[in-house]
Amino acid sequence: MNNTYCDKCEKGFKIELQSRFLDKDLEEFYFICPHCLHEYISFKENKEVKKIKKKINKEISKYNLACNNKDIVNANVRYNNVRKFRKQLQNEMNKIN
Ligand SMILES: [Zn+2]
Repeated sequence: MNNTYCDKCEKGFKIELQSRFLDKDLEEFYFICPHCLHEYISFKENKEVKKIKKKINKEISKYNLACNNKDIVNANVRYNNVRKFRKQLQNEMNKIN
């Protein structure tokens, strides 16, 4: 299954994301075209980004749970938290990417 086309050689391939640490706290995700070995940088993450992503996932689970329990007040709190954390994530991603 192809899910992207290489800009360099124009052949299709499936993205297999790999990562490497640029320094202790900066992980870079990238993928390579298997046909011409052109490297594509995807994005970078640091500890702060990973922490915020975890927090977002947790809040989403809590939000879903609150919805299932029809706990609207709690669901609202979780929803606002997710929005707040997503903003934080965006700021942090802008700093390192
Ligand atoms: Zn290529």
